[in-house]
Amino acid sequence: MDAMSHRDDPHADLREEVAKLCARFPGEYWRKLDEVRGYPTEFVNALTEAGYLAALIPEEYGGAGLGLSAAAAILEEVQRQGCNGAACHAQMYIMGTILRHGSDAQKAEYLPKIASGELRLQAFGVTEPTSGTDTTALRTTARREGDKYIVNGQKIWTSRAEHSDLMLLLARTTPREQVQKKTEGLSTFIVDMRTVLNKGLTIRPIRTMMNHNSCEVFFDNMEVPAENLVGEEGRGFRYILDGMNAERLLIASECIGDAKWFIEKAVGYAKERVLFNRPIGQNQGVQFPIAKAYAQMRAAEAIVHKGLEKFERGERPGEEANMGKMLAAEASWAAGEACVNTHGGFGFAEEYDIERKFRETRLYQVAPISTNLILSYLGEHVLGMPRSY
Ligand SMILES: Cc1cc2nc3c(=O)[nH]c(=O)nc-3n(C[C@H](O)[C@H](O)[C@H](O)COP(=O)(O)OP(=O)(O)OC[C@H]3O[C@@H](n4cnc5c(N)ncnc54)[C@H](O)[C@@H]3O)c2cc1C
Repeated sequence: MDAMSHRDDPHADLREEVAKLCARFPGEYWRKLDEVRGYPTEFVNALTEAGYLAALIPEEYGGAGLGLSAAAAILEEVQRQGCNGAACHAQMYIMGTILRHGSDAQKAEYLPKIASGELRLQAFGVTEPTSGTDTTALRTTARREGDKYIVNGQKIWTSRAEHSDLMLLLARTTPREQVQKKTEGLSTFIVDMRTVLNKGLTIRPIRTMMNHNSCEVFFDNMEVPAENLVGEEGRGFRYILDGMNAERLLIASECIGDAKWFIEKAVGYAKERVLFNRPIGQNQGVQFPIAKAYAQMRAAEAIVHKGLEKFERGERPGEEANMGKMLAAEASWAAGEACVNTHGGFGFAEEYDIERKFRETRLYQVAPISTNLILSYLGEHVLGMPRSY
């Protein structure tokens, strides 16, 4: 057992299997994709075939029926091995909306196909250019016309839209002025993008500082069958919120995996790089930032594990999910910083993969929820201070 593992880890075997799969996708694979901003299709297919992306889908729908802690272990291990789960992590948590709020017919239609990989549910259309964090101010509308909805508007940062068959879309079905609370009047839809691409749906990739396959999507009288509405009309915001704790705990686990990857790299190099006749890791100036990042990672991990336990007991781990996500994102960033500094100039060389992971892990202080919004959640919902927005 190494310093980064746990005694009595219930998911040790699962992690080992994930690590074996990841070994087939070494740094070189990710570097080549990074250069061209390509999508890791082979990696995602391998995860799908192994059943990992269907970890949370119940067995009756063809999934593995595992708990959230198993899904977290899978994503953490993917990151810890230097791979990037951002290419497919959303599938794990957005299918929860269909599972919890979808009709029996929707569950029977979509979940088995998502589990088998026949259908990819990778796109989550919530954020818009003018509303951003202020989700309920979104402007995309869905207007009922007979047996369909007509969707108009725009989303931004819809990751993986080009590599997904389905999109889970949040749109306004009742104008904001006509609802009592701004959280009402929003609805969630399953959009089969294959049927509307270039017929009401336009996808435009956005080049970002890391390889994330994020896009702008435009809806111009896009038709969605009424049967694709999830749950009740007007309650979509609630349905999306219901999935947030799981999303945050999973993203936090990815950050913990990133932190472990950086720490392992940094420790290895600090022990082996000899300058002034001694390993650089003998210098406290090199050693302490790595040790500090390790402590930050362990603290975040403890909170995330507590959140996962609560979740699996059926409790709402809002506090742990939010704190865990924030602290894990900060820990992975601190570990990345320490890793770059430890490697000196080599930290900037692409072949070490450090600069790539450094760019990739930075995202999680901003998305899917920014640190400020987590702090305002804690201030308001945990500490009982006035709402700040
Ligand atoms: C690479 C990438 C992938 C993404 N993938 C997806 C996706 O698949 N689907 C999707 O729907 N979205 C996605 N997002 C969007 C992401 O969730 C948002 O970027 C994020 O929620 C922040 O929204 P914003 O970018 O509009 O920033 P804004 O909401 O404009 O916020 C800008 C800054 O202001 C701060 N701020 C705003 N309001 C307050 C306040 N009241 N108090 C204190 N500070 C505040 C924020 O913390 C932030 O620092 C992605 C984003 C990126 C960059």
